[in-house]
Amino acid sequence: MSFNLEKLIRPNIATMNAYSSARKEFEGAASIFLDANESPFDNGINRYPPSDPLPIRKALAEEKGLSPLQIALGNGSDEIIDLLMRAFARPGTDKVASLEPSYGMYPITAALNDLSYVGVKSGADFNLNQAQLKEFLKIENLSLIFLCSPNNPTGNNLDRGAIELLLNKFSGLVIVDEAYIDFCPEKSLIDWLDQYPNLVIIQTFSKARGAAGIRMGMMYASQEIVAIIQKIKPPYNLSSLSQAEALKLLASNAWKAKRQQIIAERERLSKTLTELEYVEQVFPSEANFVLFTSSKASQLFQYLKSLGIIIRDRQNQIDQALRISIGSPLQMDQLIKALKEFA
Ligand code: PMP
Repeated sequence: MSFNLEKLIRPNIATMNAYSSARKEFEGAASIFLDANESPFDNGINRYPPSDPLPIRKALAEEKGLSPLQIALGNGSDEIIDLLMRAFARPGTDKVASLEPSYGMYPITAALNDLSYVGVKSGADFNLNQAQLKEFLKIENLSLIFLCSPNNPTGNNLDRGAIELLLNKFSGLVIVDEAYIDFCPEKSLIDWLDQYPNLVIIQTFSKARGAAGIRMGMMYASQEIVAIIQKIKPPYNLSSLSQAEALKLLASNAWKAKRQQIIAERERLSKTLTELEYVEQVFPSEANFVLFTSSKASQLFQYLKSLGIIIRDRQNQIDQALRISIGSPLQMDQLIKALKEFA
């Protein structure tokens, strides 16, 4: 493996100067701020938020056993996906790839950035194996590989050995999207960061941590990679309201009990689906959703919709497949009743 970060950075980004906000240039004590064209009338939100939310990076660093300099934050992990493509892939020339079926924003964000996208079809059990490794390594001008684990929409974690082989052999970045990892934290690859300079891990507040509304995603990587993302991110990408909520969430473990409830409901739903005569296959999930196939997928989708229950039709990705997100116990009672009544 010949990983060379210098070679991977887009030349215009390597040479440009980062935007420098007025607040960033100021150090010391001051009581009158007339530098950023804000309103002077204090309503709690009249000032711009800190450009670099260091207290959040510090709290996450402590939780993960990393340096704050190994952490960047985005307006959702969707922003991080975009920033990575912008920083490390040349529009019109470079490619990005992911294992398919997977998260729909990888090809969309590639298209937005004028990057060719290559989808490598996953193997048995939606996994990464020798055949897929070969496919990835054959792609010319490939800068970034996105691997989603646990994968959306299939729910499985990818084989660690295969990811390790890719990290050893691929000269670009391997981005492991761990949006759902808080449902199975023991599967996280975060401990590998010290070993692999080409590994980037993405996580989020949106799933198990129960805060999709604050739009906060995390990127964990080498200090060098983080420095580049910090250089190009919009100066105020995280609102003051989001920053305050994130700090509150980081100080509490309440989400962990809710996670256990979600996992219990997931198991109840999977078991119910397996027992339904019109369901063909239920895929094991380590996330907060369950994917299954049925020859009556479209009818079932419409039937649930007519009852006001919205699930995700995934037939454009996988034949006859539907994905159901795990709701509250009460919502799951209603869903399960409807599933049993559907003939
Ligand atoms: N990655 C995956 C695999 C996802 O499923 C999602 C959201 N559905 C995201 C990233 C984006 O999450 P967010 O922007 O809310 O952090």
